[in-house]
Amino acid sequence: MPSFKIPYSRQSVDQFDIEQVEKILESDWLTQGPKVEQFEREIAAYCQVKYAVAVANGTAALHLAALAADLAPGDEAITTPISFLATANCVFYAGAKPIFADIDYQTVNIDPEKIRKAMTKKTKALIPVDFAGLPADLAEIKSIANKHGLVIIEDASHALGADYLGSKVGSCRFSDMTVFSFHAVKTITTGEGGCITTNNKRYYQKLLMLRNHGIYQSDSLKKKFGGWYRQMKFLGYNYRMTDIQSALGLSQLKNLGAFIQRRRDIAEKYQAAFSDLQDLVMLPSPTFADRSHAWHLYVLRLRLDKTFLNRKQLYEMLHNAGILAQVHYIPIYHHPYYQRTLKIKQKYPLAEKYYQEALSLPIFPNLKGDEFDHIVKTIKKIFNSAKSKK
Ligand SMILES: *Cc1c(COP(=O)(O)O)cnc(C)c1O
Repeated sequence: MPSFKIPYSRQSVDQFDIEQVEKILESDWLTQGPKVEQFEREIAAYCQVKYAVAVANGTAALHLAALAADLAPGDEAITTPISFLATANCVFYAGAKPIFADIDYQTVNIDPEKIRKAMTKKTKALIPVDFAGLPADLAEIKSIANKHGLVIIEDASHALGADYLGSKVGSCRFSDMTVFSFHAVKTITTGEGGCITTNNKRYYQKLLMLRNHGIYQSDSLKKKFGGWYRQMKFLGYNYRMTDIQSALGLSQLKNLGAFIQRRRDIAEKYQAAFSDLQDLVMLPSPTFADRSHAWHLYVLRLRLDKTFLNRKQLYEMLHNAGILAQVHYIPIYHHPYYQRTLKIKQKYPLAEKYYQEALSLPIFPNLKGDEFDHIVKTIKKIFNSAKSKK
């Protein structure tokens, strides 16, 4: 039995985080209050964007962004098949139809050329994902959106802390709204949590109401009808974040720079350690000059034409060695709900090929040196024996 059990990702929570949360538990506000507002201000300042709206989780953030973008029955939104389900599910929540466009084989991000091919008269929104923490080709995607009057909802659940053309992801320089998740495996965590950033005041005001049942309050209404008075203008939700979560988020935000640096260091060490295996595996794209990587995932890809090993075998060998590698992701349209609902006939050959090859290795800030060494040693042993078999 291995003494190691190394997940692909895990949170880093320190004593300061714990103290910040404890303070809230002893305060007057537990639900959405001053800490949520402060968290939103600090996220907005970090991303250099006008507005941030904190919500219960990243999926809720996507749902509200889809509604704020006015996605509705009859509309289509184009997204990538290689993402977490929530990226495409939010289109269904709004009553619209998700359409997939294949990936760029190297970067695993949505291919703008495939977006152009997938467009119809019904296309209303584009939902690129900054896969693994590498920003998508946002400038080109934005030029497509501008030309055709489309809304861009950037799913940056993997990419808090990354930069693109000199701006932070979340700045909305190349999107109408950007969505983050603060789930425990993401760059910073609030337990569950998410947010939407935007520079658009109309989206901002709608998001605030949508997160709170569609309720509108104003000083002038209160003056006219009484202090209690409010109006539900449209159907909203309770997607509020709590002050407990926001206190953790604020504390985590202080460590964001260190978290990202640590992820970059680990990725760099993996790249160096596996450089002699490149005839058998494909390493993640190195960083580009115009964008930096947040390294939410480190995805190793098997060159299936060069090795006897398949992904299932590699997965099992690693799990037997206590390395809990994961697959990100099963193409979304494989899932029975999507098969049944969309009856897709089109092929996405690069997403298919990627899915056969991909395995995410552990990468998180407090991955220990001996754990890292164990991962590298195990993988080298596996591939060297695969080589000799050949
Ligand atoms: C995590 C994630 C989400 C959903 O976030 P939750 O906070 O878990 O709801 C959406 N999209 C992507 C790409 C994610 O990785």
